[in-house]
This record gives sequence, C-alpha cells and structure tokens, in this order.
Amino acid sequence: MKYKLTIYSLLLAISVCARAQPKSSATLIITNATIHTVDKQHPKAEAVAVLGEQIMALGSRADIDLWRGPQTKVIDAGGKLLLPGFNDAHVHFIQGGAQLDQVSLTDAASLQEFARRIGAQVSKTPKGEWVLGGRWDETKWPNPELPTKELVDPVTGDTPIFVERYDGHEALANSAAMKLAGINAKTADIPGGVIVRDASGNPTGIFKDAAQELIYKVIPPMSREQRLRAARRALEHAASLGVTSVQHMNPDFADVAAYSELAEKGELTSRIYAVPMETQWQDQAKIGIRHAWGSPYLRLGAVKGYADGSLGSRTAYMFEPFADDPGNRGLLSAEMHPPTAMRDRLMQADAAGLQLRVHAIGDRAISMMLDIFSDIEKEHGYHDQRFVIEHAQHMAKKDFARFATLHVIASMQPYHAIDDGRWAEKRLGYDRARYSYAWHSFLDHGVTLAFGTDWPVAPLNPMLGLYAAVTRATLDGKDPGGWIPEEKITLPEAIEAYTMGAAFAEFQEREKGSITPGKLADMIILSDNIFDLKPEAIRNAKVATTIVGGKVVYEEAGNR
Ligand SMILES: [Zn+2]
Repeated sequence: MKYKLTIYSLLLAISVCARAQPKSSATLIITNATIHTVDKQHPKAEAVAVLGEQIMALGSRADIDLWRGPQTKVIDAGGKLLLPGFNDAHVHFIQGGAQLDQVSLTDAASLQEFARRIGAQVSKTPKGEWVLGGRWDETKWPNPELPTKELVDPVTGDTPIFVERYDGHEALANSAAMKLAGINAKTADIPGGVIVRDASGNPTGIFKDAAQELIYKVIPPMSREQRLRAARRALEHAASLGVTSVQHMNPDFADVAAYSELAEKGELTSRIYAVPMETQWQDQAKIGIRHAWGSPYLRLGAVKGYADGSLGSRTAYMFEPFADDPGNRGLLSAEMHPPTAMRDRLMQADAAGLQLRVHAIGDRAISMMLDIFSDIEKEHGYHDQRFVIEHAQHMAKKDFARFATLHVIASMQPYHAIDDGRWAEKRLGYDRARYSYAWHSFLDHGVTLAFGTDWPVAPLNPMLGLYAAVTRATLDGKDPGGWIPEEKITLPEAIEAYTMGAAFAEFQEREKGSITPGKLADMIILSDNIFDLKPEAIRNAKVATTIVGGKVVYEEAGNR
C-alpha cells in the first residue's frame, strides 16, 4: 500500500512537470475524437493524452500529437464521441453479477417454457447448489396461473430451486427445497406471509411475502468462490456498458472482502465505493474509517439506511393515503421504529466522519429524513458531509428548497420513472405524480443529482437512464411525449448527473467525473454520437471502448 501510494505521488509530480514540458511522451493518446468533457472550463476537445492512470492533456489533434513518443499507444476514435466513464451511484453489484448467471424466466412465454428453462439451469448447476433468481411473470402466459412444484419436480430431481416472481413478492420452491426447509402440510402460515396450498392442504410450492423467509433461511450464503465469480461477472458487464465506477449500496462485508481480493489482484475494472448498512456503522467507525477512505479502486466510509419501502408494494411512506388504496399511507422501515433510533445512529455515524445515505421514496419519509439531516447539521454544523437521499422519488413541493439549504444530494434512477410511470399516477394521483422523479425541479433548486440504476432492480445500461431522463417516455409506449414532461432534463444535464454528480456524491469530484488533466483516465468511446441521435434512439447506443485508469478494459467485438 505504501509502495503504491509512493508511485501515485510520483506520477502526480511527473504530471505537473510534464504539463510544463509537452515533449514528454504519453502512454496513451486518443485522437480524432469528439470529446464532451463535462468540464465547464474546457467543454470540447479532439484528443486526450494519458500518462499511466491519469489524464495529462486535452486539446486539438495537433496539440496532443506533441505527447506522442515511441512507446505511446494511439487509439484513433474515428470521430466518435468520447465521454467520461459512467459512475452508477446506486447498485447492488454482486447481486447483479450473480443474477447474470441465474436462470432467466422473465420472458418465458408459457408454463412449459418456464419448466424447460429451469430444467436446463439444473443440468448446469453443480450438485448441492441451489437454482435461484428467475423473475417470472405469469401474466405473460396464455393461461396465467401460478406455477407449482409438480410442474418443476420432474426436471429438477434433488437440486433445490427457489425462483422468484419479478416483483419479489412470491417465489416457487420444488419438493427438494421444501424438504430442506422442513415444510409440509402441517407447517403453519407466518404473519405477513402465505403458504399457498392445494384443496387437501398441501403446499403447492408458492410462498408469498414473509413466508418466503421459510425457504430463504435454509439457502446457504454465497461461498467465497461464488462471490468472486459474481463480482467478476458484474465487472465484465459494467465494462461492456461503460460503467467505470459504482457505488454499492448495503453490501455484505463478504462482498467487500471479495472486492478487496480482486483489488489486490488488479482485477477491478470498475472503481467501487462500498456503502454498508447504517445499523453496522460502528464496524467502520471503530477502526477509524471516514468517508471515501481507501484507494482509487476500492473505498469505504459511508453508511446506507432505509426510511421506508417502495411505491410498487405500496410501502412508500406518504403524507396522504394512496389514491388507489384509501387508508394506506405506506410504512416506515423497521430501522425507523422509532425515528429517534435512526436519528441517534446517524448522529453518531456523522460524528465519526461517515457519510450518510438513506433510502427514502415516499414524500413523508423524505421529509422525515430531511428533519434528521437538519438536526445533525444543527448539532455538528455543516462540514461538507454530503448527505444523500437515495431515490427521492415522490417529493412534497416544499422540500425541494430544503434539499438545497441542507446541501442534500438526490441520488436517483431515471429508468424507474419510465418503468413505474406506467402506473404511478393511478397510485399517487396527478398532484403527487407531478413532483415524482422530479429531476428538473431538483436542478432548478440547485440540488446536485447523482444518477444510477439500482441494478439489478433496473438494467445497468446507462443509455437507458439517459434515454429515460431526456424522454420520460414510459415503457408501455403510452407517453411518447413524456410522462410529466416538465421534469425532463437535457442530455448534457443527464450525462453530468451520471458522471460529475455521481462523483460528487462519493467525494471524488477532483479525481473523476470529467475529462480534465490531472483526473483519472476513465473514459468511454461510444458507437454513436448520442448528441446527434433522436432522443428515442439514445437507448440503442452502444459503448465501443471502455478505458479505466488508462487501460482498455472493454472493446466492442467489431472494434477489436
Ligand atoms: Zn437499492
């Protein structure tokens, strides 16, 4: 570590000299590019020079050619668009990676196809491991009935399976899984959950809500190998999409161990900020870790909390009842019972120098979190803590200004707006929908936006996020002009939220987020110039090349 830091400082020293003597040679030059820097001082350029991990210079092709030496690798971008790498401010990275290798049932068009895919997955699953994932949707089948264990038992044998519905509210177990969990006709239902049974009282294999825990508790945690495999799959996927940094919300400590092992081997091709649960804040505080502590590849020092649930499950905590469910105002999370317990933990975490990032979706949950942040600022003073509200979905109008005065960052996932936007207005009514996913209102109030996806809840592909932010065109095609079009933002604003905004949310705005000399050389070249495309075509744009720390970590097949 000490050695690495010395090299790093040496590079910094060289970079200062090199800028004064442009005859030094770069390790990498990208030339003939259309560079959108996201740096207001120098918004455009044609070429960039890199030395080691860092950007050294930016300018015209001729300027940058002065940096060329015999050892310099030169990439001719062929006029394509070059951007800073995307920084996804909210992911569940290892879960996402694990899901890439799990059975995919979302688009299985029938009960037969559902069973066939599970059978195929079982045949490639090592003995003793579970088949998980799935995310099925029976409403897409010709005969939309719930699947049963009888359907899958013939193709699964003694391999236990537990495949979930796409919304996570129910899941199907086979007989092998129920045997391991000791579930039979005599098992009683548990509060908040249902074991679906046939006419004679035998469980059919479907477990709803809290009853799923009866099965989940017997599934072994991922082994070290499984976790490393999932992390590698996630990294590979991120590189192919131009995601060069991720902020992993509520990882297990074992996830951090996997990252740490990969960092040591030089295998991290996305930089990671790991943000464990606030209930465990003491684990970081007791060894003196403060916000953004670590190396350029792996950092810790923030905590993630939950204030409420989600709109989809009507558990977002609201001032007024849901429009389609009178009497229900949603739920506060277990950690908010009582809210003073959350405040006390966050107060102590802030005193320890940890960054606070809290999931709040309903207007009332958001407001209560702002109250808590305000209490903390009163007690400890404002010291650039960079509080973050994760999601910040449904805003009370009065709270936009409070975000600004309390310097709170809104970490948002544009894709949720075009996905949930299909039905959100029925649940909220127009007046509340108006200030939902309200990116434009946040920017108008001078609030920093940090964009991301919540992968695997939504796809990791940043192009979908940019598309969502500029069009607000819901996935069902019913709002081509945009759902609540007042809240659309421009493409440069969306890119900034996905680069500089996300970097600011992790205290890295001096190291990342723009193509600026002195910053880390994390850059992407796109197959299409998204500024020239019609907004609806942005979602189809692809990443041609991804560069992290001056090294090419991904090249599109035709581009190699
Ligand atoms: Zn999340």
